[in-house]
Amino acid sequence: MKQDAISGGCQCGAVRYRLVNQDYKIYVCHCLECQKHTSSAFALSMPVKFEDMEVQGALENYTRGTDSGAKTRCAFCPACGTRLYHRSDKSPEIVTIKAGTLDDTRAIKPVAHLWISRKQPWVLLDEGVPAYDTQPPDLKTWREELMGFPAEGS
Ligand SMILES: [Zn+2]
Ligand SMILES: [Zn+2]
Repeated sequence: MKQDAISGGCQCGAVRYRLVNQDYKIYVCHCLECQKHTSSAFALSMPVKFEDMEVQGALENYTRGTDSGAKTRCAFCPACGTRLYHRSDKSPEIVTIKAGTLDDTRAIKPVAHLWISRKQPWVLLDEGVPAYDTQPPDLKTWREELMGFPAEGS
């Protein structure tokens, strides 16, 4: 594991993770599923390559279907219930980390807002940040472009 890895974990500390790269992008999702699973107004989503993530501690999964017919495995700490990441069976090479679990959240600067049609009206957006009524038409490709993945040349 590189020394410059970034790290995070659940609320109780039983689950910890590290990421081998530094250059991650975070988007905000205001959809109702995200409001529910965060029990808040929106989710902070950080897509990363599954292979870049090293997890310590036992996770459990809650699996739910999505509108596109995929199944999303939602990984959480069984001790404290913190949601750590989501992983779709349609793109298992990517996990979407719930970025509020990062150890250092001060640097979070969202690159986009999704599902603003479901946004809480008191959440005010930065006009300089792209916002989608729902989500980009090809979410998988959009997220891969955010990640710079697949790597050039592939
Ligand atoms: Zn925990
Ligand atoms: Zn959402």
